[in-house]
Amino acid sequence: MNDSPAQVVTPLAGPHPAAAGGPGFVLRAQDVHKTYWMGRVRVPVLRGVSLDVQRGEFVAILGASGSGKSTLLHLLGGLDRVDRGKGRVEYRGRDLSTLSSGEQDGYRSRAVGFVFQFYHLLPELSVLENVLVAAMVRWGRWGYRSRRAELRARAGDLLGAFGLGHRLTHRPGELSGGERQRVAIARALVNGPDVLLADEPTGNLDRKTGGEILDVMLGHRAEQRGTLVMVTHDPEVAAKADRIVRLLDGKVVGAAGAA
Ligand code: ADP
Ligand code: MG
Repeated sequence: MNDSPAQVVTPLAGPHPAAAGGPGFVLRAQDVHKTYWMGRVRVPVLRGVSLDVQRGEFVAILGASGSGKSTLLHLLGGLDRVDRGKGRVEYRGRDLSTLSSGEQDGYRSRAVGFVFQFYHLLPELSVLENVLVAAMVRWGRWGYRSRRAELRARAGDLLGAFGLGHRLTHRPGELSGGERQRVAIARALVNGPDVLLADEPTGNLDRKTGGEILDVMLGHRAEQRGTLVMVTHDPEVAAKADRIVRLLDGKVVGAAGAA
């Protein structure tokens, strides 16, 4: 049994960047190394990556397949850890590796929101339930119950804003790819994260639908003055970013301004 998850997440549930004002780094990777082991074979993937993400920024991460983009995004989102003693990831100045496990849960469910290429929706749940699952994870069973009406309204509003108001009771299998990704975006946003982390969110969609999905994310970002870190292959998507970061051979090779 979890003891009061609502309190557990509080330390990291700081003011929204739009309210906090002023410049500052939301996320910061410093000399990050990440190595995978395949049995006894060492696979170094990130070999000293540094990246600062400013509040309100849209950063695009580019690089060849296998260059470590997803790995970097997972580290930024606290889904995986950097090699011990080899660099750090900071959220609002706090080293993620120093957080308690409750704080790390809070970080993943409150501070960041994830959007993946293949949606990762639960097929047996409705559209609305898929979004509410994220709220349940954040608030825990009792916290969720006491806020259920409010959270359902928020999830419904997000889905409505993304053009899915008539689809709330449908299953993901009944939706198009673009609609599924909208559900995934609503799920990522339902807890009001500081930072949206998106891993090739348009990579599985045709050009037109991909463009619409990008517009959904950029529209939300403009409205909330939120921060967006997006892995993408698409130069047109990257051209809309404030900054492009390229990964090559486990390092950042260039950080150019864009558009
Ligand atoms: P990208 O997203 O840029 O395509 P990834 O970060 O997914 O690259 O992967 C980078 C490299 O790390 C690839 O060579 C991949 O095979 C390897 N890799 C990723 N995840 C694991 C894992 N869990 N175990 C072993 N190797 C992995
Ligand atoms: Mg990837």
